[in-house]
Amino acid sequence: MGQTNSVAVLVIGGGIGGLAAALAISRAGKQVCVLEQAPEFGEIGAGLQLGPNAMAVLDKLGLYNEASKYAVFPERLVIMDAIKGRELSALDLGREFISRYGYPYAVMHRSDLHTVLAEACRREGNMSLLTNKKVVSIQDHGAEVEVLCQDGSVYLAEAVIGADGLWSTARKLLVEDKPIADGFVAYRGAVPLSGMTAHARLEDVVMWIGPDMHFVQYPIRSNELYNQVAVFKSKRYHEGAEDWGTPDELDAHYAMCCPTIQKAIQYIHRDQHWKMFDREPIDNWTQGRITLLGDSAHPMYQYMAQGACQAIEDSDCLGRMFSLHGTNIDTVFAEYQKERIPRTARVQRSVRTWGEIIHASNPTTVLLRNTIMEQRASTDYSVVEWLYGGHKVKAENQAVI
Ligand SMILES: Cc1cc2nc3c(=O)[nH]c(=O)nc-3n(C[C@H](O)[C@H](O)[C@H](O)COP(=O)(O)OP(=O)(O)OC[C@H]3O[C@@H](n4cnc5c(N)ncnc54)[C@H](O)[C@@H]3O)c2cc1C
Repeated sequence: MGQTNSVAVLVIGGGIGGLAAALAISRAGKQVCVLEQAPEFGEIGAGLQLGPNAMAVLDKLGLYNEASKYAVFPERLVIMDAIKGRELSALDLGREFISRYGYPYAVMHRSDLHTVLAEACRREGNMSLLTNKKVVSIQDHGAEVEVLCQDGSVYLAEAVIGADGLWSTARKLLVEDKPIADGFVAYRGAVPLSGMTAHARLEDVVMWIGPDMHFVQYPIRSNELYNQVAVFKSKRYHEGAEDWGTPDELDAHYAMCCPTIQKAIQYIHRDQHWKMFDREPIDNWTQGRITLLGDSAHPMYQYMAQGACQAIEDSDCLGRMFSLHGTNIDTVFAEYQKERIPRTARVQRSVRTWGEIIHASNPTTVLLRNTIMEQRASTDYSVVEWLYGGHKVKAENQAVI
């Protein structure tokens, strides 16, 4: 039996969501301990898009300037036809966008953002960040929660935040659901920008769309690196199957694409790929003194680049609720999930709809989609208003997309 430790707030998982939450809760005056299963805090070597909704929270945490040192601020979000190689639509991210939403749209290396958050956490006087702490059981005893790690150590906490990602242990306390796959897989990674020639405009975030696929490109780390994400639907996927989304399928699927993508795909690392999952939204994240945050609460496909942004929004809300309701954990968690569940459920569902739009293969649907996209003005912000127009938007009565 390992040692027993008492903490005020325990955060399980030191990803972007867990660290942002730890910081926000610490700023609300609580002692916080983060347990991370990995031997080191870190993130994978790929890019991350951050909408103004996330940048606003980073600013509130005092990290806007620090994060901006590593960020790239693109001029436009562009949608290209992956087969014909032509532009379909764009969203202007310039002055009008910034004045409308208060903050710019940024793209960063994941590990740069993670490092900025981890360093800020380490500067907090009342926080500890622990690695090699895989949580294996969580028990709510009413006045406190008992958390057991694989190494035998035990933590007694007044409140626990399960920020342990898609395969969350904490979520199992609430619901028996499983991550849902629909056959999509992602290959991703960043390469030095200097050696990269197969791209659209470097000032833009570009999403190439085509039948059952999309391909994303943008520069990161102050324009040193170029990030690429290649996504496609595996023809070999069926429920229970293991061997799907392999590199030979990637090449076969992308053979239909325009020459720029065919060339760019050669820069994609093939040694690792990510099968895509989400889950159905749930209407409760809380059991007693345990609640969920980020991907453990609302895992979503990445097609709208909002998974981490929503986790960051969650953190802001949780921090505010700790500030407002202090020691009453029941109220903190009740108010937190009341604000966050409708909003994140809407994003989860909208991402699925957006996935169907961008991955369409029926020629008539594609023709209609492309015609509508081509007619949109780049300063028409109506499609993103609900998402970026203040992250406390009441979402209940709004249509999905
Ligand atoms: C291809 C791709 C592209 C994406 N692009 C974007 C984008 O551009 N913008 C965006 O906002 N989002 C994007 N996302 C989504 C985003 O990556 C996630 O939503 C976000 O990282 C979730 O953060 P999290 O902290 O909730 O979970 P995670 O990042 O999964 O972190 C969970 C942490 O918990 C730890 N953990 C798990 N179990 C335990 C345990 N039992 N004990 C202790 N520790 C544990 C894990 O090791 C991990 O460190 C993308 C996702 C993918 C797959």
